[in-house]
Amino acid sequence: MIPLKDIKCVLLDMDGTLLDKYFDDYFWEHLVPEKYAEKHKITFGKAKEELFSKYKAHEGTLNWTDIDFWSKELHLDIAVLKEQIKHLIEVHPHVEDFLKMLKRHRKKVYMVTNAHDKVLDLKLKKTEIGRYFDRCITSFELGYPKEMIAFWQKLEKVIHFDKEKTLFIDDTEEILKTAKAYGIKYLLLKTRANSKREDKPTNSFPILRDFKELLKNL
Ligand SMILES: [Mg+2]
Repeated sequence: MIPLKDIKCVLLDMDGTLLDKYFDDYFWEHLVPEKYAEKHKITFGKAKEELFSKYKAHEGTLNWTDIDFWSKELHLDIAVLKEQIKHLIEVHPHVEDFLKMLKRHRKKVYMVTNAHDKVLDLKLKKTEIGRYFDRCITSFELGYPKEMIAFWQKLEKVIHFDKEKTLFIDDTEEILKTAKAYGIKYLLLKTRANSKREDKPTNSFPILRDFKELLKNL
């Protein structure tokens, strides 16, 4: 149970946590391989194989979510492709109710995302969640991905949060581990990040299946 009344600051990841990761998974696992296969005149299977090893090589780095990097690397216009499937961008259930509740109780609410600025803009235009945040901070702005301690050190300088009174929710365990090492007291792992995919079992962090679990908590 998270004691929301003791919490002053809430840090929220975007993809998979607030928004359905189906969009991102579909994009990188289907649309990009399809376009890459067409471009290089190879099969979809071969394209997936080549791409997945490229993805793996850049996981957990700023390149991973840098769409300009991928546009160059793959010779595809990633921003244009994302725009083409923006109808698949969806907010997870009860996210807006949760954000409204936080604002009503005058919590500081920040989005902390590894997403690229262009992707953040696209997603905030497509959804209505942007209005609830005191600020949205990207790892590009700070120069490090959330997987690195340096991200959190810089973040604390920018927004001055009290680690003992802060809740952070993310769907990536690796990132929560870093936040824990940095000393953020309250951590939740968002599961059902992709609404169409089963989660791998885990017990490393307390889990949040649905934001409605936090609604009755304040
Ligand atoms: Mg995420």
